[in-house]
Amino acid sequence: MDSSLDFDRDHLWHPYAPMATTAPTLLVRSARGTRLTLDDGREPLDAMSSWWAAIHGYRHPRLDEALHRQADIMSHVMFGGLTHEPAIELGRRLIELTPIGLDKVFFADSGSVSVEVAIKMALQYQRGRGNPGRTKLLTIGGGYHGDTFGAMSVCDPVGGMHSMFAGALARQVFLPRPPAGFDADISAWMDESNRVLAACSEDDIAAIIVEPILQGAGGMHVYPPGVLRWLRELADRNGWLLILDEIATGFARTGEMFAADHAGVSPDIMCVGKALTGGYLTLAAVLCTAEVAEGIDASESGVLMHGPTFMANPLACAVAAANLDVLTSTDWRANVARLHTGLSFGLAPAHELENVTEVRTIGAVGVVALDRSVDVSRVAAIALDHGVWVRPFRNLIYTMPPYICSDEEISTITGALVAAAAGAAT
Ligand SMILES: *Cc1c(COP(=O)(O)O)cnc(C)c1O
Repeated sequence: MDSSLDFDRDHLWHPYAPMATTAPTLLVRSARGTRLTLDDGREPLDAMSSWWAAIHGYRHPRLDEALHRQADIMSHVMFGGLTHEPAIELGRRLIELTPIGLDKVFFADSGSVSVEVAIKMALQYQRGRGNPGRTKLLTIGGGYHGDTFGAMSVCDPVGGMHSMFAGALARQVFLPRPPAGFDADISAWMDESNRVLAACSEDDIAAIIVEPILQGAGGMHVYPPGVLRWLRELADRNGWLLILDEIATGFARTGEMFAADHAGVSPDIMCVGKALTGGYLTLAAVLCTAEVAEGIDASESGVLMHGPTFMANPLACAVAAANLDVLTSTDWRANVARLHTGLSFGLAPAHELENVTEVRTIGAVGVVALDRSVDVSRVAAIALDHGVWVRPFRNLIYTMPPYICSDEEISTITGALVAAAAGAAT
């Protein structure tokens, strides 16, 4: 008899996995609060928040209610020529919450698509301002911006997918990865960057795109806010736009509402996603300034050349607006500081392990870096034995727990991470 898991293994792709996979896949029956309920009855804490998204945990009463209520009104309607209250309400909240000047909103269906839209905005803006030759992007090494082609072209050229798709990706300009650590000295990095810049023409570049302060899937790398201020000045001096990808870092994850706030920098274009709907539905948004919008309108097409079928889906917008209301009605700053204290304290014992090269924390993010790549299934199994769901990659075992975790749950998570790091070596 073909069980559910057999069917899954034989027919369904999973992210970054071979079709003929041998790795075990767990069947989730349901989820509530901070916990997943597995088919076999185990209830691990979700230390991943479903990849940064479920910030208030699963089945939050206010989010469930917003979704049910909207389903009774209208699940979807096209956004071409029509509009609706959920989109308007979410737009208002995003403009209020995001750095100053960002007051034009484009709703996209996923993070990767929002990056594509941001890139189009930058290119069309440059055309509208009489610079059609400005088509390249400038970025830093070690980034991750999504899996579509424009986004892939600005992912890390070594760790990303450049070799797999060589020839098919747009060629961009890469500055070195900034030094590790919030307080690191950036003078050597600036010198190196200036050398790279000296070899290229400012008339080729449309915009700078980076993940601010914390690079996520490219390596959970924290870098100093001074880098963002330097990039902001560089963009201004050359007539380039600054695009910040806050898809992972947005909505308080790094301790500020947006990671850009650590540097006091306002971008020209910003992407948000992941936690936007609290993990309920796929939705992203691209915000830009009035100046960028005017430039786009002045381009020869006169319109922004993008419009997804499910643009501004009302269910997703309604649950996102409720999600932001829940976030802003709490003392999120104090709460993330509490989580940070728990993560730093709980992960400290990992420093003692011989195979651990670094332990880093920022906001509600904790990372244990090992001296070699881990066996993902094995490390996940050890954490699961300690009651915690994690999904390591490369040499990194990490957590970005739901904000509703109690101190005790954080201690369970950090204990599981330390045990998994210790077990990874043997
Ligand atoms: C996850 C992520 C993306 C891509 O978002 P998807 O919704 O998976 O397409 C882009 N940029 C960053 C920084 C991300 O973390």
